Amino acid sequence: MSGLNEYLKTEREQSWRVELRKQIKSKDRTSLNRVHMNEVAASKRIQSYIEVNSGLTLTQAQEEAKRCLDCIDPTCISGCPVEINIPKFIKRIEQGNFLEAAKVLKQTSALPAVCGRVCPQEKQCEAKCFYQVKLNKESVAIGHLERFAADFEREAGVMSVPEVAASNGIKVAVIGSGPAGLTFSGDMAKLGYDVTVFEALHEIGGVLKYGIPEFRLPNAIVDVEIDILRKMGVSFETNFIVGRTASMEDLKAEGFKAFFTGSGAGLPRFMDIPGENYIGILSSNEYLTRVNLMDAANVNTDTPILKGQNVVVVGGGNTAMDSVRTAKRLGAKRAMIVYRRSMEEMPARLEEIKHAQEEGIEFLTLTNPIAYFADDKGRVNRMTVQKMELGEPDASGRRSPVPMEGSEYDLVVDSVVVSVGVSPNPLIPSSLPQLKTTRWGTIVVDEDSLQTSIPEMFAGGDIVRGGATVILAMGDGRRAAAAMHQYLTHEN
Ligand SMILES: Cc1cc2nc3c(=O)[nH]c(=O)nc-3n(C[C@H](O)[C@H](O)[C@H](O)COP(=O)(O)OP(=O)(O)OC[C@H]3O[C@@H](n4cnc5c(N)ncnc54)[C@H](O)[C@@H]3O)c2cc1C
Repeated sequence: MSGLNEYLKTEREQSWRVELRKQIKSKDRTSLNRVHMNEVAASKRIQSYIEVNSGLTLTQAQEEAKRCLDCIDPTCISGCPVEINIPKFIKRIEQGNFLEAAKVLKQTSALPAVCGRVCPQEKQCEAKCFYQVKLNKESVAIGHLERFAADFEREAGVMSVPEVAASNGIKVAVIGSGPAGLTFSGDMAKLGYDVTVFEALHEIGGVLKYGIPEFRLPNAIVDVEIDILRKMGVSFETNFIVGRTASMEDLKAEGFKAFFTGSGAGLPRFMDIPGENYIGILSSNEYLTRVNLMDAANVNTDTPILKGQNVVVVGGGNTAMDSVRTAKRLGAKRAMIVYRRSMEEMPARLEEIKHAQEEGIEFLTLTNPIAYFADDKGRVNRMTVQKMELGEPDASGRRSPVPMEGSEYDLVVDSVVVSVGVSPNPLIPSSLPQLKTTRWGTIVVDEDSLQTSIPEMFAGGDIVRGGATVILAMGDGRRAAAAMHQYLTHEN
């Protein structure tokens, strides 16, 4: 308890500390165990795209909310890139004021139902929770509670719309409708700007729609959050590729004064190994987009997908897990992950790995593909893999995989999904020669303001960071909106 005593030494709000001390002593709150969310059984869920996590019930949510200590100096907030007032929204849940809880979330987050489902809270707000940091106990289930409040509001059919300032008549353009662009749009609309989002695809939402499958994040839930932005006055233009359909100069001529680029990192990487171009080998981006946005899972569709029986997904991140679990749902008998490091190094969330294991996904770890082979029609039918061992840590701090000579063996496959990382979408940088980029193709920005080398253009999310997370993209959207507002206020 020495860490706890030290924490309680802070000179603020004596009465609160006395109360907290009483509660901890009487074990009122800290003796409660974290509530666990119900899930659909693996045998049932692999038959469809039904959401795996069922959400907390009202009783469970209030029980979990009771665990929050309402810390005077809440460290959890510093772990949230969009700075949600976490203790405040949890307190509202505890009090049974669920609609108010949702309102608190919306003050700083345009996508609470999304974040409550896909944010890696265990590495962010929950990693900073007092329980985990000081009491060595399971943190408050902040993500589950966030999801609960957002879902409650939606299901009650009384979605609040954040207040927007009177229009200032200034037009700003947003390139890309992923979480960075959506968050930026919400904050700029609140400040009274006339915001238009230009999206290359036929659907709004970026990876939230085309990448993350229904069983983790239903598209209908993303649509409800996008609808709130519409109600706040944000306009959306789909099938509009900035740099092709119209240039930045064309948009300036239409009166746009400033630009936010949130064009993401959707360019798939391949391994450049023999046979990688055979039929039946595709990127996870193509695989997931076809299923999530183009109805490929249906039998009667114009855009069918190859439904392999022996499917290998190469990689160990979110995208690999989403792809392999999709393959299972498309009917694969063997759906396998081939990953060159061990389970401990896998970048996917623990929850996803656990769900994949329950669903019968095979994990071939410390294994790397080295060549593909095909039948006489050019369709992949076999791949050679090699066993690996872990060597010294590399630049990422993870132990690097080292091939084991003579350990090669073959796997029978009829479909392979390559999920070994993504690169920034190149179109915006290539259409603007004056825009500074790094050697990896990400856009160079000022660290604080996210302003690019073109003064009236700001950028954030994966186009700046490379493949990262939803909440980091959203945090960038917020920071860029504040900085662009400063810039435009100063300019005009
Ligand atoms: C399959 C998958 C699963 C993931 N799972 C998770 C997860 O569980 N949790 C998590 O936190 N993160 C996850 N991520 C990462 C996360 O989704 C991304 O970090 C995040 O979406 C980045 O947001 P963004 O707004 O920068 O870009 P994106 O979401 O990529 O959106 C960019 C948008 O810009 C559009 N665009 C590009 N160029 C142009 C142009 N010239 N004109 C107009 N529009 C353009 C694109 O079509 C796209 O819609 C996952 C990623 C993938 C691929």
